[in-house]
Amino acid sequence: MGIRRADRLLRLPPYLFVEIDRQRKHALESGRDVIDFGIGDPDCPTPAFIVDRMVEAVRDAGNHRYPLGRGMAEFRRAVADFLGRRFGIRLDPQTEIVTLIGSKEGLGHLPLAVVDPGDIVLIPDPAYPVYTGGATLAGGVCHRFPLSARNGWLPVLDEIPLEVRAQAKLMFLNYPNNPTAACASLSFFEKVVEFAREYEILIAQDAAYSEVHFGDRPVSILQVEGAKDVCVEFHSLSKTFNMTGWRVGFAAGNADALDALVSVKDNIDSGVFDAIQHAGVEALRGIDHPDVQRQSARCRRRRDVLVTGLRSAGWEVETPEATFYVWAKCPSGYDSMKVASRILEEADVVVIPGVGFGECGEGFVRFALTVGEDKVREAVRRIARIAW
Ligand SMILES: *Cc1c(COP(=O)(O)O)cnc(C)c1O
Repeated sequence: MGIRRADRLLRLPPYLFVEIDRQRKHALESGRDVIDFGIGDPDCPTPAFIVDRMVEAVRDAGNHRYPLGRGMAEFRRAVADFLGRRFGIRLDPQTEIVTLIGSKEGLGHLPLAVVDPGDIVLIPDPAYPVYTGGATLAGGVCHRFPLSARNGWLPVLDEIPLEVRAQAKLMFLNYPNNPTAACASLSFFEKVVEFAREYEILIAQDAAYSEVHFGDRPVSILQVEGAKDVCVEFHSLSKTFNMTGWRVGFAAGNADALDALVSVKDNIDSGVFDAIQHAGVEALRGIDHPDVQRQSARCRRRRDVLVTGLRSAGWEVETPEATFYVWAKCPSGYDSMKVASRILEEADVVVIPGVGFGECGEGFVRFALTVGEDKVREAVRRIARIAW
């Protein structure tokens, strides 16, 4: 018997990275020396002080049971302290913080908690794909609003049609931004909060890269007066502490929205392994540890090598102030699929075509700074040889 997929799966947008991934595998299989700027997964290990705490916690049988609920009180208190120190915001760890199995889990489940079939979900274009995925699986109707270089990759809220605003329940935002590396200012977030109040839309701001920055420290939307009435912010330990495989993050902000999210989670998952939450507490308290701070310095050097190298090769590229992405304009006359595919075929270098993040990502490719400085240098040399 053939098993038929549910209609909701058929509604998911096509996965546009498939073709590049096929070419990448083919290059690897033919023994070529591929330099991979594709997936945004840090290449360095989790700092030892975090791993050590994990090892200790794994040995403690008290951590071997179902975690359940909103997460360990100690983890949520550590989050509240972290957000207090980092952004000067005060949150109640009982009601305004929830532990997540990575922020992606929470971002993906949130629409099930607050969106009814047919409700509109506002999603940036380009964007990290989980927003569309989660909204679609919940039966929501995705309305993509454009981000563009002209506006610093920030949405122009006034251009979202009135009838769309009226029917929208939820809006995703992501600053510092993947894939464009753009940052938002507090005054932009103030406008967002005002917009959300006026149209009664819940804002889900994805702050996965709030600690990966090279210039001014990114701000939290929760710093805006009254933001808690209409916003939830999603944070992750993955990128900050090189912990992508551990699966731990948290959501903070509006208590009712978090309550709804916890209801979904209670029915579907049983929380994050307590030992990981103990290690997470250690991580959050150790944000200023030299092993954590060294990461940004390393990423900054790679960024400088790549940006300088691409510019001398004639590429148009801005210097990112945060995230570990470089969002580079395609050589003129080529679309992003073609550029990614030529770079792979002619330089054995993997980059992600911008169109994979949405139509408005067309014309750009994304480099993830997750390969060592020497390899970045080598990649630049090879890319510079391509004649466009
Ligand atoms: C990596 C990433 C996440 C996911 O982080 P996890 O906590 O590992 O699930 C969320 N949002 C964006 C924009 C990301 O790039």
